[in-house]
Amino acid sequence: MRAEYDDMLKKALNGARFTKEEVIFLLKPEKDEMDALFQTADRIRKAVFGDYVHLRGIVEFSNFCERNCLYCGLRKNNRNITRYRLMPEEIVDIAAYAVSIGYKTLVLQSGEDSFYTTGLLCDVIKRIKERVDVAITLSIGERDFEDYRLLREAGADRYLIKQETSNRELYRKLHPGMSYENRIRCQKDLKSLRYELGTGNMVGLPWQNVETLAEDIIFFREMDADMIGIGPFISNPNTPLGRFPSGTVEETLKVLAVTRLVNPLVNLPATTALGSLDSFGRQKGLMAGANVVMPNVMPVNYRRLYEIYPSKICTGERPEACRHCIEGIINSIGRKVSTGYGESPKSLRRGNAVCMMS
Ligand code: SAH
Repeated sequence: MRAEYDDMLKKALNGARFTKEEVIFLLKPEKDEMDALFQTADRIRKAVFGDYVHLRGIVEFSNFCERNCLYCGLRKNNRNITRYRLMPEEIVDIAAYAVSIGYKTLVLQSGEDSFYTTGLLCDVIKRIKERVDVAITLSIGERDFEDYRLLREAGADRYLIKQETSNRELYRKLHPGMSYENRIRCQKDLKSLRYELGTGNMVGLPWQNVETLAEDIIFFREMDADMIGIGPFISNPNTPLGRFPSGTVEETLKVLAVTRLVNPLVNLPATTALGSLDSFGRQKGLMAGANVVMPNVMPVNYRRLYEIYPSKICTGERPEACRHCIEGIINSIGRKVSTGYGESPKSLRRGNAVCMMS
């Protein structure tokens, strides 16, 4: 290993605040330095979270979307997808069932679908919280400050809205009719409303390079995010980016590990997309800095239809089988499923812990 690379890893263990140039350097380990990078990220993860892995059950309640993001299978102009929407009762029932099989956090995710007015979603959140003891994360895209305020008041605890790329020009290319500034505005509004904030990116997007990836990692630090979702871009033939190659497992793991070095306290999932590229993808992520897994809790008949990208894993599994399988995966690498809500350590420090059943 090069002495400079070793020094940089030591600096990370001592809590250094890295510059962009240093982050770029960290993102370029030589072959024999890769394991040391992953092990350093793993040591930091262990120092902050111990061996507990938090599970977040994902409820994909609608695959309708009004946006046209170039990479995403849910995009409005994709006619090659069967659309579905869950009614409020169904969402509440699925949520309650997920809690009954052991989930303490649920992520309610959808395309941007204005069928679900803020009033309707507030009602869903309240009904879930009346019935079960669970933390709720929303992942429903861009809304106004007032909407976010009402949803928070109704009981939403966290919000996941990835920046996808911190590079303005690339953002504009990938998101027709959307604005980089508004995406940032959303994240700032959510933070000011004391949501735990999840941001993140995709790795291996066309036109991306190591410099833009380093900028993403610095961006995450500047946003003071509580959670960072990092997944490989997976090429979807039903989208305008279908002719581009997917990102790789190795590149994604490097970004994940360096993100842990730069943002020691964040919740980092080993994503489903990573597991879809490699049957050991999630294990590898958990051993390179990740401390969270987000299994699907949808009934089998809907799973195949939430087709953001092809060959998504676990689309034939029942939720209780997934829950069981994921625990096996976690135990197989010497880790344990956490029984808590998995609040961000940053948020606990801010005195913003999830207030259950309030
Ligand atoms: N509509 C919500 C939820 C988006 S879908 C929102 O705007 O936030 C959830 C995530 O899927 C996105 O944030 C994106 O990072 C990821 N995604 C979409 N298309 C993808 C693809 N082709 N490969 C990998 N990840 C993809």
